[in-house]
Amino acid sequence: MRLDVQGIVKRFGAVTALNGVDLAVEEGEFLTILGPSGSGKTTLLKAVAGFEVPDAGTVRLGDRDVTTAPARHRNVGMVFQNYALFPHMTVAENLAFPLEMRGTGKAAIARRVAEALALVELGGYAERLPRQLSGGQQQRVALARAIIFDPSLLLLDEPFGALDRKLRESLQLEVRRLQRRLKLTTLFITHDQEEALVMSDRIAVMDQGRIQQLGTPGEIYDFPVTRFVANFIGESNLIEATAQGGRVSVPGFGTMTLPEAPAPGPVTLLLRPEALRLGAEAGAAACHATATVLESVFLGLSVKLRLQPEGAPEMLARLPLRPSDPPPAAEGSTITIGFRPEDVHVVPRG
Ligand code: ATP
Repeated sequence: MRLDVQGIVKRFGAVTALNGVDLAVEEGEFLTILGPSGSGKTTLLKAVAGFEVPDAGTVRLGDRDVTTAPARHRNVGMVFQNYALFPHMTVAENLAFPLEMRGTGKAAIARRVAEALALVELGGYAERLPRQLSGGQQQRVALARAIIFDPSLLLLDEPFGALDRKLRESLQLEVRRLQRRLKLTTLFITHDQEEALVMSDRIAVMDQGRIQQLGTPGEIYDFPVTRFVANFIGESNLIEATAQGGRVSVPGFGTMTLPEAPAPGPVTLLLRPEALRLGAEAGAAACHATATVLESVFLGLSVKLRLQPEGAPEMLARLPLRPSDPPPAAEGSTITIGFRPEDVHVVPRG
């Protein structure tokens, strides 16, 4: 079902946790709320789930206004970071619980529990207690319990936060597959930008109780609308430059013409580390400089260079690299670095 949040404000004393949030999650969409600690993500989720009543604004599920409806009347499935399975109940009893609450008959419960366990690939685990399961298995049971009653909306609040990296990555894919297959409208919360980029149809980047930008992972990465978003998603070189007469002048690097001329005055350019050119290729670029390699870090399939250009602030470069390739530049050496107009994005002021 479609979720529509409009003009939500929520204050706790002097703190404004949500400062006018508008958000629509389309039917079957996987939308992620991404933001730093304290940005208001959990408060937004609670307003949607029915655990907090907003001071202003509306929450609509399908064509129903549920702004003040209690949580149990919203038909929303939830999974949180701390598994919150009932510890004294078996897996099957945990899964049966939401169905019993809804008055489902015994035979139907048995069938749906078996189906849900098969969906999360825990067919043989029905009689186990939660403490007899690994963290990843417990989260799969929590997921099965959240979807067993055909919720109108699925809410996931950092559900992989307590798991190790490998397990987190495999569960991310599993959840995404399941969500697609069941066409579940899903609101997902994370402060992990990689997780957001991998999983989402769209991402809403939050800061200080507001949505700063809403877009596909590609839009958010390539065209951030604020410095905050540019810095929060991926690694960035933010370059202060000046636009004049259709050209942009970058201290230490020279001048160039951008595909779209910015208004005259100071501009901030975003250059992702993988777009910075080195060596001969850099020398041919419109903007280039001589730089000292301050640090070179091998990251498995890429190498990251911290560079000090002459007459300009530090920059980062990232180059794909196979383990057998020689390092591109030694620490302390001098190289030419540069970038092309089509590789920079003007970050709007504000
Ligand atoms: P995290 O990633 O750390 O969970 P978050 O983005 O989910 O953070 P919220 O938990 O929504 O952030 O909190 C937003 C702001 O509202 C914070 O400043 C927080 O301290 C404040 N806040 C949240 N709940 C309450 C409460 N019940 N009473 C007072 N202040 C609160």
